[in-house]
Formats: sequence, structure tokens, C-alpha cells
Amino acid sequence: MKTTLKTNITVKDICDGFVYNELEGKGLFGLSGKLTIQPEYQRNYIYASDGGKKEVAVIESLLKGYPIGLLYFVKVNNDKLEVLDGQQRITSFGRFVTDKFATKDENGMEQYFSGLAVNKQRTILKSTLTIYECEGTESEIKEWFKTINIAGVPLNEQELLNAVYSGPFVTLGKEEFSNSQNSNIQKWSAYVKGTANRQEFWHRALDWASKGEIGDYMSRHRKDKNINEVKTYFNSVIDWASSVFTDVESEMCGLEWGRLYEEYHKQSYNPAKISAKLHELYSDPYIKNRKGIFEYILGGSIDTKLLNVRVFDDATKKSVYAAQTKTAKTKGISNCSHCAIGHDANKEKIWNATDMDADHVTAWSKGGATAAKNCEMLCKTHNRAKGNR
Ligand SMILES: [Zn+2]
Repeated sequence: MKTTLKTNITVKDICDGFVYNELEGKGLFGLSGKLTIQPEYQRNYIYASDGGKKEVAVIESLLKGYPIGLLYFVKVNNDKLEVLDGQQRITSFGRFVTDKFATKDENGMEQYFSGLAVNKQRTILKSTLTIYECEGTESEIKEWFKTINIAGVPLNEQELLNAVYSGPFVTLGKEEFSNSQNSNIQKWSAYVKGTANRQEFWHRALDWASKGEIGDYMSRHRKDKNINEVKTYFNSVIDWASSVFTDVESEMCGLEWGRLYEEYHKQSYNPAKISAKLHELYSDPYIKNRKGIFEYILGGSIDTKLLNVRVFDDATKKSVYAAQTKTAKTKGISNCSHCAIGHDANKEKIWNATDMDADHVTAWSKGGATAAKNCEMLCKTHNRAKGNR
């Protein structure tokens, strides 16, 4: 790969013909149309999120004459360059120069570019940039892009995958799943954590469709002219989840819906009954893991481990142990009630506290409370044999 250092290109040069399209995934251009600022393997513009602090920082650096870091362009041919690294910074000053956002001046007043003093405008426009122009094969450049990763916000896994497997498939995927204007996003957000512009819906859709083999899947479908399989599968999962659970709870977000769909979608559920059960479990103070409620219900309300039901505290166990042991000693029987009714040598055994565990007399699943009056200490063997809490 060949690289050439350029130090004479100014902010003004780059901003000549600058085009910013609010709809993510569309190319942005500069250098009189010669420069593509957002090639398809680049991520969406994210500097404006988190309150725009990062894009303001870029402008302040320029005003103070500080360097804004190395920029990398790929030379596609003599008339065409693409930004490899620096898209966020270039978009920041491009947006500023075209009055898309304001900075605060020394008096705390908001100032748009067009309202700045002429000398300040000139300082920004005349700032020179440090640019490496690179020429090489597609794979050399992509490999390099994967490793440089020097911009302020590191690329996440999906952004890297989009870069490595760029092509029509990624472009279509981003159009559907990484477009913050897509009206389905609100619905998706109940089930999937993240934001469109960080590729998190696209990532989850690929994760579900590929059963976790995202890289492999993207490589096989790279040249596809449609994303039907991913889209259909993703919608099936979301539609299934929303038809089974008609309530929307915050704990639903981020669950492994793809896996739950695979395991349970062939079973039939009564949404009204599910909703009643869900409300009952949500109001149960003993359930520590509400996220587990959904799979617990799907599995027929059997696997209480999913709920992490609250256990007895040490003070309760200690006092129950003391009372039980005292009574057992006066009767001359084991302090484990199950041992006491047995026929072996443990019939009269007084266990140490450390050899016993607390058990719900009435199981939690049958309405038993996690309180002293529902607590019984059993020897470890019998406690384990009883199993459920
Ligand atoms: Zn026992």
C-alpha cells in the first residue's frame, strides 16, 4: 500500500460543496464533490449524539489552532477520494460551517458560523489538515481500517463487521436497521437494547438470523441484493414476543429473544393468562430476577432458578436453627425433621449449623414466604432431596 502525506488541504477546501444528509446511510461529499466523506463501510455520524460535545470540541480545537488529528483518505482514482478515518471530525466542521449547530463564545453566547467575527471564520476556514492519502487493494485497505481505529469513538463490533463485509447487503441492512427515521424503531426498542446509528438493531437482527455466527453469515451473504431472510426472521421474533407478552415491561429489553423464539415459538400460549401470570410475578417481592420471569412463564412456570427467589438471611437461619435444635435435644431426636422420622443412625443426630440448609416449608412456588415462620433447617442431604424452594 502506498501512502502520501498532504498538509496543504484546508477546512475551506474540504467544505467546498459539503453535503450533509440527515437520513443516515447516505453519502456526504466535500472537496468539490471529489471526496466521499461517508463511504458505505463507514459508520453513521455519531458526534452529534451525547449532546454534541464532541463536535463542539472539534470547532474549539480549530479556533485555538490545535491539530484535530490525522485524517486518512483512500485514493480511488485521480478524481475520487474516500474518507477512511476522520469522517466524524470532517462532518463536525462541515456541519458547523454550514450552520447546522452552534458553539458558545467566551461570553457563553451561542454562535453559529455565519454569526462569528470574520477573523474567527477565517481561522477555521484556513486551518490546514494533516491527511494521509492511501492507495492499495480493497483488502489491504479494509484490513488497515480494521486496525487503525484511531478516531475518538472506537468502532464497535458491528461497525467493524460492516467495514470488513461492505457491499450491497450491508448497505441494505443499514437502510432498514440503522436508519433512525424507521418508524419501527420504537417497537424494536422494547426488545432490543441500543440505537440505530451504532448498528445495534442490525447487529441483533444478524445475530438472530445467523444463530450467533454473524461474521460467517455476512461473508456468505455479502453480495446479496436483498436482506429478506434477516428482515423476515427479525420481524418473526419481535412479532412473536409481542403477541405472547402483550404487556411491555422494561425488563424485556435485551433478553435473548432469538433463542427464546427458537425454543418456544411452536408452543401455544394464552396471552390473557400470560398477562395475569406476569402481573402476579411482578408483584411478588421474593423474586430478585425479574428478567427471568419471561422465560419462566414460557417454560410453564417450573424452573424457579430463573427467578432467583430470595433466600433466608443468616439471622433467620441462626434463630430457626437454635429453636429447632433445642426442641430436638429435649425430645432426644435429630434436629433435622426428615432424619428424625428415618430408621438409620441419623435418627438422633444433632447436626451442626454448618451441616444444614434453610428450606421453605411451603415452597415459594406454592405461595410460601421467605420468613422465619416458613423456614425449616434440614441437613444438607435432605435439603437437596427436597429440591424446590
Ligand atoms: Zn436430614
